[in-house]
Order: sequence, then structure tokens, then C-alpha cells
Amino acid sequence: MSAVEIPIGDASFVGRFLRYVDPVSGEWTGYRDDDGYGIFTWPGPAGERVKFRAHRVAWAIAHQAQPTGVIRHGCDHPPCCRPGCLKDGTQADNIADRDDPRRRHARRAAAIAAAGQQVLSLAFGP
Ligand SMILES: [Zn+2]
Repeated sequence: MSAVEIPIGDASFVGRFLRYVDPVSGEWTGYRDDDGYGIFTWPGPAGERVKFRAHRVAWAIAHQAQPTGVIRHGCDHPPCCRPGCLKDGTQADNIADRDDPRRRHARRAAAIAAAGQQVLSLAFGP
């Protein structure tokens, strides 16, 4: 990623960015990296291709500010660009969040529910 400022004052940047955000789910519909994060490419000050992480851009547009730390997903869904899901924090917060037993429990419960659905559809059809 780059240290280039996110050009939140550029209407063509913001307009193009928003075209890649699903208006219903808030998900990034453009290119995603191997970790599932949306990537938005835009020319930098020297005309070079700058890659921005989409959720950082979403946070910056929503807050009209440059993010100072790690932008975290409250929803644990990397392609999500909903401003309400995004929090500015530090890497330490990020790790604390991940290790929070309530969140671990929630993820485990979701995995069990998904596995349960699969078992049910095998037993009773889709
Ligand atoms: Zn979200």
C-alpha cells in the first residue's frame, strides 16, 4: 500500500469509488486481494498507479479525514465498506479485538450454524 493521501476532496475519485460499493450490502464489488480486502486503484500525484484498500477509502470519505491507524472491521468482513462497521484504531486494538473471547465465540457459533445448515440440507434436501 502507499503513503499517498486518499484524495477525498476529488469528486471524480469519490464518484468512481462509490460505483464499486454495493448500495445494499455495502460490499466492495471490485478487485479483492488474497485476504478479501477491496483494492481501489487510482492515479497518484505523479501519475503512478496507487492502490488503496477500499475500506480505508470508505472510512476516509465518511469521516472526511485521513485514517491515522489501522481501520478495523467491526463486522469481521474484509470487503465490507459500510462506514458504520469501520473503526479507526491501532494494530494492538486489532489483535485485542480478534482475541476477544466473545468475538471468538461468535465466530465459532456462526461456523457451527453453517455446518448445521449443511447437515440439515443433506438430510432434508436444499
Ligand atoms: Zn460490515
